[in-house]
Amino acid sequence: MIKINQIKLPVTHSDEALKKKIIKMLKLNAKTGFTYRILKKSLDARKKPELFYTYSVAVELDDTKNSEEAIVKRANSSSVLIYKEKEYRIPAHGNISLDRRPVIAGAGPAGLFCAYILSEAGFRPIVIERGSRVEKRTCDVQKFWESGILNPKSNVQFGEGGAGTFSDGKLNTSVKDPSGRNRLVLETFVRFGADPSILYDNK
Ligand SMILES: Cc1cc2nc3c(=O)[nH]c(=O)nc-3n(C[C@H](O)[C@H](O)[C@H](O)COP(=O)(O)OP(=O)(O)OC[C@H]3O[C@@H](n4cnc5c(N)ncnc54)[C@H](O)[C@@H]3O)c2cc1C
Repeated sequence: MIKINQIKLPVTHSDEALKKKIIKMLKLNAKTGFTYRILKKSLDARKKPELFYTYSVAVELDDTKNSEEAIVKRANSSSVLIYKEKEYRIPAHGNISLDRRPVIAGAGPAGLFCAYILSEAGFRPIVIERGSRVEKRTCDVQKFWESGILNPKSNVQFGEGGAGTFSDGKLNTSVKDPSGRNRLVLETFVRFGADPSILYDNK
């Protein structure tokens, strides 16, 4: 794949405009078939009132006759480079079977992902959580905000979903995560119904 960084377009741009920009930056023939995927999209508001999106995209050419190296060389731009996707690999598990089900303490993000990964590997983990279910937690948190009365077992920090369940929901993008682990987490969210834009929309 080829990665193009620094594609800048007005916020009102069409999909066609992004496609045209890719063709231009890669110096492709207009008939060359390709697909692209947005890797990152960030808002550039430095020249207010004009607003721009800056994209990084990964491009895959339909015809493998055109070598990617040759296209990158011809593009002659520091924004165009060869791209290899980093895929996080779950560490291999041992081959001695467990005689008990693994137990995970805490149904926060770490515990829930741990349970999910273990389930994928064929285990049947049990998740224990000291706090309440999220519906009950919502009432306890509301009560705390209104009255200041704290339920030590069910509050903003403790209960199903873990800390941050009552946050505004921003996702930590960990753009410098070298292992690709963060992408695995975001892809899992998308697989279970999250908006695919979480994969590339910058904070
Ligand atoms: C108000 C708030 C807003 C936040 N907003 C954001 C945000 O917008 N974006 C972001 O990326 N991060 C946010 N965070 C941080 C994020 O919530 C944490 O990084 C994340 O929850 C850590 O996950 P965890 O699974 O390691 O721990 P936790 O989420 O703390 O989960 C631990 C779980 O273990 C349970 N537990 C503890 N002890 C026991 C026990 N003895 N037995 C059984 N269960 C137990 C707890 O009840 C809890 O459910 C926010 C945090 C807070 C408090």
